[in-house]
Amino acid sequence: MDAGARTEPTFRESVDLMFNHAVALMDLPPGLEDKIRVCNSTYTVRFGVKLRGSIHTFTGYRSVHSEHMEPVKGGIRFALGVNQDEVEALAALMTYKCALVETPFGGSKGGLCIDPREYDADEMERITRRFAYELAKRDLINPSQNVPAPDMGTGEREMAWIADQYARMNTTDINARACVTGKPPHAGGIKGRVEATGRGVQYALQEFFRHPEDVAESGLTGTLDGKRLIVQGLGNVGYHAAKFLSEEDGCKVIGIIERDGALVSDAGLDVEGVYAWIGKHGGVKGYADATYVENGASVLENECDILIPAALEGVINLGNAADIKAPLIIEAANGPVTAGADEILRQKGTVIIPDMYANAGGVTVSYFEWVKNLSHIRFGRMQRRQEENRHLLIVRELERLDEHLGDNWSMTSNFKEKYLRGADELELVRSGLDDTMREAYQAMHAMWRSRDDVKDLRTAAYLVAIERVAKSYTAKGL
Ligand code: GLU
Repeated sequence: MDAGARTEPTFRESVDLMFNHAVALMDLPPGLEDKIRVCNSTYTVRFGVKLRGSIHTFTGYRSVHSEHMEPVKGGIRFALGVNQDEVEALAALMTYKCALVETPFGGSKGGLCIDPREYDADEMERITRRFAYELAKRDLINPSQNVPAPDMGTGEREMAWIADQYARMNTTDINARACVTGKPPHAGGIKGRVEATGRGVQYALQEFFRHPEDVAESGLTGTLDGKRLIVQGLGNVGYHAAKFLSEEDGCKVIGIIERDGALVSDAGLDVEGVYAWIGKHGGVKGYADATYVENGASVLENECDILIPAALEGVINLGNAADIKAPLIIEAANGPVTAGADEILRQKGTVIIPDMYANAGGVTVSYFEWVKNLSHIRFGRMQRRQEENRHLLIVRELERLDEHLGDNWSMTSNFKEKYLRGADELELVRSGLDDTMREAYQAMHAMWRSRDDVKDLRTAAYLVAIERVAKSYTAKGL
């Protein structure tokens, strides 16, 4: 194939091409394919905020891809490159992602063209509140219709401002807190939301490695233990994924790619150390215990076992796909592999764990937060101590046995302490996330393995998701 002669589609076209590739294998009622593919609406707003003595005009978007379930869900991105094509692509991915992990939402996405580093906290608050006001007055922020969340350039701080802005505009809405997710725990958030997307990447890889026949497709063997990773982007998602995989699963991070270059080390990088360095110096350059590579993107092509693009869309494209050596790619970012690159990699036999599955941990825990807000009670509050009391009954019996059997038997040290403790909110969130990631993988796996015409996990993911969305539309009489 002459990759050089081909032109790269836009992000939205890329998502549509992948959708088309999957839908060609389905037998949908006439017209439904188009209905699912198109973005229902995109609202563009331009608003002014008086800053430093003059009025600054900002452009923002909120795109609703599919309302087959409501509310619609998806993050708000603050970045200079935000544009309509991008929010529409991301909104479409949200529809499929929510369907795949069975969170009862349609897909949406928002964005504001801004470089958040150019403004101080007070200025950011005024800009965010004004954007939230513009969206809320059109029900594009609303607990039952449209529930934003963090994305690139936004986090707990922005979500808290948005929630407060909505509450000020809807003083009698008892469910106001459910208007946005990703809030800090002290402002109606849930424990484990910040780590959720990275944690989901870890659970996704763990589940992949529980399927040796899938692992064999990539040419890898064994377990996660000892696998060499390259991570692109040490933001919230990349940092947590790299941290958990290296600290808990025995993986070795041999490359970290950032805006200003990359760090490589065959001995393995200290994720916490690099993260702290970036926090202090704004980039990876100058970090002592690794080799610095100025052309960071070139490190995507280095030898490794697992490549984790966790930054922007389109980083693996027609220009570099043929040179990617990783046998396994897990898309922690949305859309890091373009449709053209996907085809090249598929032909090379690279296994790709697709974005709509791999990074679904964020929206999954957002779902738990939304449910918590609507139920007005923290998970585990009713049953935790009751669970502990029941466990205590068993422990007491075991203690009697321990006494009775003398030297012949004794309880494992720590058992009592570990068994007695009822699950707190964080443990419940992690358990719910783990379950979700396992179930969704198994649905993709079953689709991949049961049909000869389904050649990869991305196509399988689309098929599972589109089937569910189609059923929803059909049930509505469409
Ligand atoms: N922005 C995240 C995503 O792309 C999270 C969305 C959410 O929690 O609603 O999936």
